[in-house]
Amino acid sequence: MSKLSVSLLLSLLLLTLFANGQEIETAIRGHIADLASPVLHGRGYVKDGKEDAAKYMLKRFQDIGLQSVTNDKVYAQAYTFPVNTFPGKMKLTINDDSLKPGVDFLIDASSASYFAKDLPVTTVNLKKIKDTASWRALVAKLDTSHAYCFRHLDDFLENTGIRKDKFVYELPMGCFIIPEDGKLTWTISRDSIPATVFHVKDVPKKLKAVSVNVSSVFVPASRNANIIGQVPGALKDSFIVFTAHYDHLGMMGDKVYFPGASDNASGCAMLLSLAAYYVAHPGRYSMLFIAFSGEEAGLMGSEFYTWKPLVPLANMKFLTNIDIMGDATNGITVVNATKYPSEFDELQQINEKNKYVPEIRSRGPAANSDHYYFTEAGVHSFFIYSNGGNGYYHDIFDVSKEVTLRHIGGVQKLLIDFVKEMK
Ligand SMILES: [Zn+2]
Repeated sequence: MSKLSVSLLLSLLLLTLFANGQEIETAIRGHIADLASPVLHGRGYVKDGKEDAAKYMLKRFQDIGLQSVTNDKVYAQAYTFPVNTFPGKMKLTINDDSLKPGVDFLIDASSASYFAKDLPVTTVNLKKIKDTASWRALVAKLDTSHAYCFRHLDDFLENTGIRKDKFVYELPMGCFIIPEDGKLTWTISRDSIPATVFHVKDVPKKLKAVSVNVSSVFVPASRNANIIGQVPGALKDSFIVFTAHYDHLGMMGDKVYFPGASDNASGCAMLLSLAAYYVAHPGRYSMLFIAFSGEEAGLMGSEFYTWKPLVPLANMKFLTNIDIMGDATNGITVVNATKYPSEFDELQQINEKNKYVPEIRSRGPAANSDHYYFTEAGVHSFFIYSNGGNGYYHDIFDVSKEVTLRHIGGVQKLLIDFVKEMK
């Protein structure tokens, strides 16, 4: 072959490789933009966000060519759990300043509805309360004639040993303000409490009056669905599993939504990209893809699956859960690395050879995503998340244009090689 044709061939090869990488990234970016768009309302419990997100994942699974694991072409596994939601008004005014939901304040996720105009505010210095008995005596005196601003909550929690997430459960009906200096991070609650609690940034020193208009609806049996599909391999009853949760926090009131681009539109996009790869490249093992719901409400979807598995847990050779895949500038972290050292070693070796990501960090077991109940049930599993990004997490700033997708192609190649090496 002439020198010219060799270099032509090389550049053609490079072009295809580049085009492939670009294509993967473009497809992933497209899925993230779709899933994090206002149309899906934060993939939660208001305005059919979770239902529409489920439909999106189901449609993609079918379009890609994934097959159902049952014989009846059903890809969805439905189940229910209770959840507290905020489908209506979300108004908080302090000293005539109307605060921006999601920017200036968050409502505590288990809060009740409340409506009040120009409530006088009483400030309570919690630092002075040293034990639970005096705390309970104080709580007994609180009523709805005032709003209460609790200062120095952290000192109080340290003094009394009361857990931060349990603290609000002790409060009676009424309006409560907790000043926050740090980042505002929202959650989902499966409980409802009598009180209405706000976490507020930059609370003014002098508090004159507070007006509140919020409405919450407690849904005792919110319907959710896990979306499940497979690529059959030569071994019909032995599965390599990839999972990612598609739900997020939804809406806080009828205007503000939490896009969840990094958490976990990015993981779902990776899941879809891997699914497309395996439809084109079926192998020895069957490949199972599960898009979980209810993760943000406490791993509800994956817990349900391990209770009622469509593919038996004993048939799962290895499971990799992907959650937060938006930016691997500083590489990735592997939860359960210390529990499955030989698999982790394999991953490290692949990466040392190919330099797919800058670093692979090792971490022990943790109950922080959907791999957890599988690990508990004896399924060998990793949870992989990326290290990078701007720190937008569980807030309204986790939008798709902030997701860099740095090293996303590398992460995908790493996962594909990892599966290839499985004996
Ligand atoms: Zn997540």
